[in-house]
Amino acid sequence: MHPVAATVAQQSESHPQSLRCVAPVVYLYVMFTYSRRPQLQVLFGVAVVSVFVILLLRPGQPAQSLVTNWRPPPMLGSIEMTAPPGAQPPAVSGATVPLDALDVQLAAQLYTGQRDALNAEVAAAYSYVSERFGSPANARFTATFEREPGCGIHGLAYTDVRNMHVYTCEGIERQRAVNIMAHEIVHQLEHDRYGAAHLNSDLILSEGMATYGAGKYWLAGQPDFRSFVKNQRAAGVAYPLATHYSGLGVAAMNALYYQWASFVEYLLETYPRAQFDALYISGAGSPGSADYSGAYGKPLADLEREWVAWVDR
Ligand SMILES: [Zn+2]
Repeated sequence: MHPVAATVAQQSESHPQSLRCVAPVVYLYVMFTYSRRPQLQVLFGVAVVSVFVILLLRPGQPAQSLVTNWRPPPMLGSIEMTAPPGAQPPAVSGATVPLDALDVQLAAQLYTGQRDALNAEVAAAYSYVSERFGSPANARFTATFEREPGCGIHGLAYTDVRNMHVYTCEGIERQRAVNIMAHEIVHQLEHDRYGAAHLNSDLILSEGMATYGAGKYWLAGQPDFRSFVKNQRAAGVAYPLATHYSGLGVAAMNALYYQWASFVEYLLETYPRAQFDALYISGAGSPGSADYSGAYGKPLADLEREWVAWVDR
């Protein structure tokens, strides 16, 4: 079951159980109050009611299980990255269809009969993410959907040659591929806004912004990344921001992407955009390498403490 749906189901299932507890207690209370029994028995009835009310109102097991059962859907099934400068995307056999701002290329035998729907979804994703990111693409680019026989869904952004690749398969629903493409398109917008500095950007900022920009395509029904990461942290998943996922596996990479998106969300909501832009172009590739003190007047460690307090508030 979808984690959000599971949460709702658990909440609604808890009510009948509570009512089953309350009904006999209320009956007892009424019986003792209105019968002409001795005072002691009435007091005993009130005490029983009080104990049950306290037990019902207490933040107990049901609330805890709502949190610990929360699990995010794994967005990426394989390592995602921005291709190094000069790397050429592999040739794809499928036909390319021009849209208003971009071209969509779909590999042969992939999402057969779904071409028009896919084109419309990619156009809508581009419009949505460029609004969230704050600026459009400087020129046309190609959004390519390539077959990945192993079905390890992931993306690869060749931003200097303006080609975004998503690797997927027939067994993965089209919407998931579009979700990843939304993230890859933000990488192109990053390159267009920041120029070649993007290719050397701090991973916290490039992946954080690409995930933040993808917004609803990555939020699985959560209202924002702050809420998503609050749940993630409550489920015991938390890494220091300056952690490279290399060697930690895909689950850690997914978790870090959401943390970084939430950190970017915090910076954009708390400080002027110009400070974020100055920070972005100061990176040196690895997570935490940008000049946080130069852009914000305080080191990453201070900003991270502020962010954690904001998330957990
Ligand atoms: Zn990315």
